[in-house]
Amino acid sequence: MALEHVKIFNTLSGQKEDLLKPRGRALKLFVCGPTVYGPPHIGNARTFLIFDMFVKFLRSIDYEINYLQNITDIDDKIINRAKEENVGWKDISGKYELIYLKNMQVLGIDSVNIYAKATEYIPQIVEQVKTLIKKERAYLIEGDGYYFDLATFPEYGKLSHRTIEQAEDAVSRIDASDKKRNKGDFALWKLSKSGEPGWKTELGFGRPGWHIEDTSITEYFFGPQYDLHGGAQDLKFPHHEAEIAQQESASGKRPFVKQWMHAGFLTVDGNKMSKSLNNFVSVDDFLEKYPAELLRTIVFMHHYRAPMDYSDALVQTAQKNLNDIAIFLAKLKKTRGKISEIPSGDFLNSFLESLSDDFNTPQALASIFEFINKLQPNLWNLSYKAGHRAAELIEGSLKTVGILLPKQIISLKARFLARKREYYRKNKQFIQSDALRKKLDELGYIIEDTPKGPLLFKPVYATRTIQNPIE
Ligand code: AMP
Repeated sequence: MALEHVKIFNTLSGQKEDLLKPRGRALKLFVCGPTVYGPPHIGNARTFLIFDMFVKFLRSIDYEINYLQNITDIDDKIINRAKEENVGWKDISGKYELIYLKNMQVLGIDSVNIYAKATEYIPQIVEQVKTLIKKERAYLIEGDGYYFDLATFPEYGKLSHRTIEQAEDAVSRIDASDKKRNKGDFALWKLSKSGEPGWKTELGFGRPGWHIEDTSITEYFFGPQYDLHGGAQDLKFPHHEAEIAQQESASGKRPFVKQWMHAGFLTVDGNKMSKSLNNFVSVDDFLEKYPAELLRTIVFMHHYRAPMDYSDALVQTAQKNLNDIAIFLAKLKKTRGKISEIPSGDFLNSFLESLSDDFNTPQALASIFEFINKLQPNLWNLSYKAGHRAAELIEGSLKTVGILLPKQIISLKARFLARKREYYRKNKQFIQSDALRKKLDELGYIIEDTPKGPLLFKPVYATRTIQNPIE
């Protein structure tokens, strides 16, 4: 299926505009990856799920995407964590990189083509810093490192429309020095003190600044200019501004990136979920309690640019949404009526149009429920084929963004109890049939009497209500 226009909100232009579709080559997308110094939390995961869903959607409508993500595996946060735990910095970065990649796998985030670790691109980083020095955009603070001179880049701030830090901006302590020429100057290459990790290079024994790794990696894979850059909104300033200043100064070509997408935060009681506030739920903690597709659904329920406040009630709403859809799908697969036509065109159009309109996922979800509501009155009159076709459409639309509903597995015991209950019910022995319904409920099953007989269903997404043992 090919859609003519996918619109996105481009932070650089401040407007909704057509997503550029390069002819004859893949769209080059870079999303800032994690700093691997601790387990990822579900706030980090929100950002990566958003871009995973967006890429899956684009690929489903025939976009070719080359999706690159970096992994920051050298950083002061990593060095400090290693000191705290009295281990080597590589022990920390190696451990958390593995956890990150495993978490991504379990969450079904498989759309990234290339993961690039900063430490594997030290020669490219050194080259870019040397170019900036040659072009007089960078200067040395003796015994400290090379810094970018912001006075040479008057366009600084053109993405975020500011040049001053705000609360919730992601910052790096590596950029601090009282000898800087301008307050906002940031480190390109930090000279390492004894005991600190570093690389012996023409710039001296040191390590890269935070922003330079991204532009060195993207220049290596994509060249000095590319199509689309993503990340959460805490990276707009100073991280993404710094990337623009570095790459446009190094190459003299602009724009560095044509279109930028920024995702909203996952919050807790209105505050950004973060390691420093200690208000986070790690991906592992979440996955211990709930299946992966639940987090994907929670993310899908919110517009990617809007904040999303995490709570138990939110998880329950997502569980209910998924269960309602799954129960309806189970019913659709039981229809044996005569109606062979379903309003499928309207549904597919509105689903895809919603996703094409600045990736409006809540509207896309609403279109699924609208379709269900349209089918509902005539549900049991649908033919076997029509029922299955409608179910395939709903399953297919969710699959577009990677939401896969698990197959219903009903145990033999449950089937037996359901048959027994039906026997009692038909004989009007309601006390016995109610007792069996209760038993089925205790086993985690819902039984619903439909015109086509009783439908046994296991709501896989619900955490079972714990019965008071005294009752
Ligand atoms: P970090 O590992 O801290 O570098 O973060 C990895 C990614 O997660 C970056 O794109 C951050 O912008 C993003 N991120 C961090 N906290 C949140 C949050 N609470 N909600 C959404 N995205 C976040």
